[in-house]
Amino acid sequence: MKQTDKDIEISTMLVDWYKENQRDLPWRQTTDPYKIWISEIILQQTRVVQGLDYYYRFIDRFPTVDALAAASEEEVLKYWQGLGYYSRARNLHASAQYIMLHCGGIFPSSYETILSLKGIGEYTAAAIASFAWNMPYPVVDGNVYRVFSRLFALDTPIDTGKGKKEFYELANMLINPSNASMHNQAVMDFGALVCTPQAPSCTSCPFQHKCLAFAGGNVLDYPVKQHKTKSRNRYFNYFHIEWNDRTFLSRRDKSDIWKGLYEFPLIEIGQSVNFTELSSLPDFKAIFGFQTPLDIMLVLHEKKHVLSHQVIYANFYKVRISNKDSALDKFIEINSSELDNYAISRLTHIYFDKLAESFAN
Ligand code: SF4
Repeated sequence: MKQTDKDIEISTMLVDWYKENQRDLPWRQTTDPYKIWISEIILQQTRVVQGLDYYYRFIDRFPTVDALAAASEEEVLKYWQGLGYYSRARNLHASAQYIMLHCGGIFPSSYETILSLKGIGEYTAAAIASFAWNMPYPVVDGNVYRVFSRLFALDTPIDTGKGKKEFYELANMLINPSNASMHNQAVMDFGALVCTPQAPSCTSCPFQHKCLAFAGGNVLDYPVKQHKTKSRNRYFNYFHIEWNDRTFLSRRDKSDIWKGLYEFPLIEIGQSVNFTELSSLPDFKAIFGFQTPLDIMLVLHEKKHVLSHQVIYANFYKVRISNKDSALDKFIEINSSELDNYAISRLTHIYFDKLAESFAN
């Protein structure tokens, strides 16, 4: 399909929006393919806020392909600790060694070679090729599916071969070849900041007058999926226990969400329950032993956290204990002031924000 003036206009509008609103991220200030690669892999399953710290530490310790390839896998994994999905770190390490052995230590600049590296799919290859060399490969990720499906009211299911092909062709047509890097970054940021999954800012959106989903009043129906994944509800009850200046954590080691992250003692139960019901459960005794929690404060109540295949409803209780029961020995006891040193989930971050808010009021 031939690119039209209308297509270029969309790209120009996206780029104009981006110039005013782009997120200030370190990997956006570089054209070093190595750094772009590291950032893209970190961000595959990680929020930007959490990924930033990891990115800085990783680049600080492994500033080049050479440095990464020369490190032991164990050390690379240590720098990944808490991010989860450790195969990402193993693939980075293996690919760095491959580049040293087969590409003369220089990050490849051909799209096909980039794509052949372990752990790199079409999206990441397009991101690296366009951000580093302005090559006109469109990124097609969740943001792109969302923004373009809404703009054009395109209802081909995105989880089908036909949908993938159509969206790729559309993205390919819309990309401005002379400004591919900025176009790709713009659409990603626009999807992350404006045309968001559940609460798009349509009223202030520069595309409002062009957006067919907005005109149809069914923005949230896009993008369409054929196989709606059945999602399961989970009910988490966390206890932020204060014992003098100490608190308790555990590290999530199950092959489940947040593997490797730290969290407060938790009771997961199949339904919504209140504190009285919780306190009669054997799991409650397994945490508190014979201690009765005092000053119970329900800081977050059934905070909904939507993940791809599950919806978590989380209660966060802040409680105090006057003595420590040996039941708590199975948790990691830390000084409360050290909490910042532990990688925690987004949900726990939200809890801390809410807690700070409740003290400020
Ligand atoms: Fe997205 Fe709303 Fe803008 Fe349409 S009007 S592109 S749905 S934010």
